[in-house]
Amino acid sequence: MTAPYYKLVSSIRRAFPQPVSDREHDAYFVFSIMRALDQVDAMKSESPVLGEPRELDLEAARQTRIAKESLPLESVTEQLVDHLSGAIVWGHPRAQINVIPPPTIPGIIGSLLPSIYNPNLASEESSRLVALSEVEVSAMTADLVGYDPAVAQGVFTFGGTGTLLYAARIGLEKACPGSMKSGIREPAVIVASKCAHHACRTIAGWMGLGEDSFIEVPSSPANEVQTYLLESICRDALKSGQKIAMIVATMGTTDAFGLDDLARICDIRDRMVEEFSLDYVPHIHADAVIGWAWSVFNDYDFDQNPQGFQPRAVRSLAGTQRRISQLHLSDSIGIDFHKTGFTPYTSSLFLSKSGDDLALVARDSEAMPYLFKSGEYHPGKYTLETSRSGAGPMAALGNLLLLGRDGLQALLGHLVTMAESLAEHLEGHAATTVLNSENFGPVTLFRVYPSEIDTFTISKREMTDPTARGIVQKNNEYNRRIFAEIQAEALQGRGVILSLTDCYRKTDYGEPVVALKSYIMSPFSDEEYVAAVLESVCKARETVS
Ligand SMILES: *Cc1c(COP(=O)(O)O)cnc(C)c1O
Repeated sequence: MTAPYYKLVSSIRRAFPQPVSDREHDAYFVFSIMRALDQVDAMKSESPVLGEPRELDLEAARQTRIAKESLPLESVTEQLVDHLSGAIVWGHPRAQINVIPPPTIPGIIGSLLPSIYNPNLASEESSRLVALSEVEVSAMTADLVGYDPAVAQGVFTFGGTGTLLYAARIGLEKACPGSMKSGIREPAVIVASKCAHHACRTIAGWMGLGEDSFIEVPSSPANEVQTYLLESICRDALKSGQKIAMIVATMGTTDAFGLDDLARICDIRDRMVEEFSLDYVPHIHADAVIGWAWSVFNDYDFDQNPQGFQPRAVRSLAGTQRRISQLHLSDSIGIDFHKTGFTPYTSSLFLSKSGDDLALVARDSEAMPYLFKSGEYHPGKYTLETSRSGAGPMAALGNLLLLGRDGLQALLGHLVTMAESLAEHLEGHAATTVLNSENFGPVTLFRVYPSEIDTFTISKREMTDPTARGIVQKNNEYNRRIFAEIQAEALQGRGVILSLTDCYRKTDYGEPVVALKSYIMSPFSDEEYVAAVLESVCKARETVS
């Protein structure tokens, strides 16, 4: 007599990949994945959305409970696949929404393999050669950005936010030694641009510094930090007895692709260390989660232009490279492969210029008696996380191998060419103005105006003239309606899905400026989809009065 539980275990065993090769079952495993992909494929159409866009029924979702009975794998797959219904296909050239990339096949395989064999990057004992992928990617990227790969050290973590947290915690330990152990006993601040990511504020809160310890420095119309203001803010902090835990240079802002002047920021820091005779060097972190990828142009010959980019694109790429080539001056860098490196989530690298900095946040080995018995690679001694997936570094490795410098140059060059073409079209049109024309990335922020408005002068007036407040508000509303119209059309498979930002910048007198945003991340982008943006805008203008 077999016990009922044992029968159940026998059937559940079929839902695991077999530990010993079993050709028949291996085929079943692969076939199960293929069936799932087939079902997803059946949801594809001309539209950039899988299946039909659906409203979320949160109430029904909250009523869900675990069942008594097991379900067959096939039924589970169907239910999982159903959750992709209505998903936006980021790789579709009609999807130009945000800095969300479509993952490549090697990127997907890089995440899939660790999903099956489940290495744990806490140490080499539990991850074996997968641990090498973290070291390899760190070395490759260190070299790319101009750090010395022999001294630099990298650790994959839970997003760009995690990279900022590592930097801030290390910076705080430099500024307030011993605070990791005994807590924060003196005031310390984090300084970054107004255009920096909101994660800077979040981590200040989570670290116990308090969100109020995050100081925002005003940014210029080119969306870069105003370095003279950064200097005076840092000086004031030091004069009032505060420590500087971290200065963040944003190298590619989220909305507009602004690039801070990192070299200038480093100069300011170095001068302050002397003047104030500081006994620590304030940590400078380059938040390059978006911009890092442009370092493949560090050795590009812009005069010869061997890839044959068009002049406008060359100007744009060189304009970015000018700032990105400074990355090596920072003390640490945040790099998101899941943004401009075309991997699945989550694949973020915190890269420290010197491995010694990571020792500042390491634990005593007595605290972890069950770990790290053999070998020499034990990132679990200093990582915030304990278990860490191999998916991030393996996916990143997959893409660095796949693309190489040339491939990444070609891909970014193409996206920027498309964005430049869009900007040119928008600038040429009487009803639209480009807001971030001084930025050189794949993102274009623009505003649409009703016919009676003179778009040659309106942008400047809106930004600077306090008597234009009412006009700004009215035009904000107009842009929201244009966006709603474009969005509705796009979800029907016509036109392009864009996004809307509630506050591209504030005007000089404090009014938020709404903008439409096209973020081109699809390798399948082409001129016809650039034209489609213009068509969508024109069509929406006819409907919206
Ligand atoms: C996206 C972004 C972040 C946050 O990164 P996540 O990977 O989403 O956690 C931080 N800084 C900048 C500049 C970003 O664009």
